Amino acid sequence: MDVVDPATWASIKQAIGTIRDAVGLARDVKQFLPPSKQEENIAHSLDTADRAIDLAEVQIAKGLGYNLCQCAFPPKIMLKNGMCEQTGREIFSCQACGSEYPNRLQEQRRKERQEATTLANRAQRDRWMAR
Ligand SMILES: [Zn+2]
Repeated sequence: MDVVDPATWASIKQAIGTIRDAVGLARDVKQFLPPSKQEENIAHSLDTADRAIDLAEVQIAKGLGYNLCQCAFPPKIMLKNGMCEQTGREIFSCQACGSEYPNRLQEQRRKERQEATTLANRAQRDRWMAR
């Protein structure tokens, strides 16, 4: 995907918000229609529009570098949810399922592996220096 400047992304996001609002208003009006084939078709069109808007939002988020959770389709956008105390790296979480990326436990194990590697390298260096 081409890199798009933040102002363009903001415009696209605003347009999507406007479309989502319009779909919401149409859905509000639809509820006053008597049950009919036409009412059913409108409901189907609004559901299709909702899904297209969700997909567009995910594409924007992906383009902006957000992590996506694949617990649902369209994927859910993972938002920043604090820092890992052990590594100081940002943690992102899915609002739908609670998954985290990177996972805090994996982050802790990653840090432990790094520390073990550092200690092993230091020990190797010390052995080499003692020769
Ligand atoms: Zn999820």
